[in-house]
Amino acid sequence: MVKPEESRRPTAAFDATRLTNTATAKLRAYDPGHDLPALRERFGATIAELGSNENPLGPSPRALKAMRAALAETFRYPDPRGMLLKRALAEQLGIEVGRIGLGNGSHELLMLLAQCFSDARHSIVFSQFGFAVFPIATAAAGARAICVPALPRGNHAAPLGHDLGAMAKAIRRDTRIVYLANPNNPTGTWFDDAALAAFLEKVPPQVLVVVDEAYHEYVDAPGLSTALGFAERFPNLVVTRTFSKAYGLAGMRVGYLVAHPSVVAVLERLRESFNVNNVALAGAAAALADKPWLAKARAFNRAEREWLREELLERGYRCLPSQTNFLLCVLQRDAAKLEHHLFERGVIVRPMGGYGLSRALRISIGSRAENRRLLQALP
Ligand SMILES: *Cc1c(COP(=O)(O)O)cnc(C)c1O
Repeated sequence: MVKPEESRRPTAAFDATRLTNTATAKLRAYDPGHDLPALRERFGATIAELGSNENPLGPSPRALKAMRAALAETFRYPDPRGMLLKRALAEQLGIEVGRIGLGNGSHELLMLLAQCFSDARHSIVFSQFGFAVFPIATAAAGARAICVPALPRGNHAAPLGHDLGAMAKAIRRDTRIVYLANPNNPTGTWFDDAALAAFLEKVPPQVLVVVDEAYHEYVDAPGLSTALGFAERFPNLVVTRTFSKAYGLAGMRVGYLVAHPSVVAVLERLRESFNVNNVALAGAAAALADKPWLAKARAFNRAEREWLREELLERGYRCLPSQTNFLLCVLQRDAAKLEHHLFERGVIVRPMGGYGLSRALRISIGSRAENRRLLQALP
């Protein structure tokens, strides 16, 4: 028995980092890149926020109206099942409500999947340069990461994109999840429906294939629609989506997934009961109903992205092809100097060193004014 006086040695400095569990010991805190509130104060209206793939047009006016109305209800807990939003999604997607799960952003759902379906006995497969949350979800669950080398830079269809053939081969007996992002962040690359079908055929039925479609609403490449078309044939398929990108509701934190009802039921065991707040639920449902507004956001993004890509190319900056609301520009040299140069002029872009792409910068498509500010700020 340790006496309290003995255990409280004043000289021993308290350090909680030594007290974490094994999985948490491997994690690092999210690096937001910059102190954005401070930068907004420094640059005021002249800032160009092109670092986080947000929709510069903002949310649908109908979503804003619904959210304002929902504010009056914030003394109540939100509907823990988010039924109104689920019904709206089910109707739009033509599926049963029981196939839908809601998350505090799709980030939460990606984490939950690993936590519910894997532990230290399992492995999880994802691609090099795949979305940053995949390795974090893997580590947080204590699972082993199998990171498959990306396609080479010279690959025509998907430079630095997912090598689906190699990913299928990387699956081991202990693999529980494969994470794919289509299109992928930060590369902007994609694979078409036929490639996904061929991949799904090769995956054993006990391995969950999670297709992150955060940029789905922006997609218009031939042969590319959605993984949802394969949900009936492959019950191990999980599709995640978000209201953070094309719907312009990143600050509201709403994402959803479509999966076999038994997958959704398992996630419900661990999900925080009120993970999506009532303002977010109302905003997402209203945003979903405003189809003209979404069409406008899509059209704006496509036109602006291709214009910006051309303008950058004219100035000697090469960007990978993109089906998203950002461009990945790959320079001939380390990108840190350019990033700093832009930063000093109030143009915030995302450096890619954390991904092992120190020569690349990820530039979100902003408003026309922001994009012009980027071009003007280039050295
Ligand atoms: C932005 C993004 C998400 C969305 O995250 P939320 O938590 O829904 O805001 C998910 N996956 C990818 C690939 C993304 O780029």
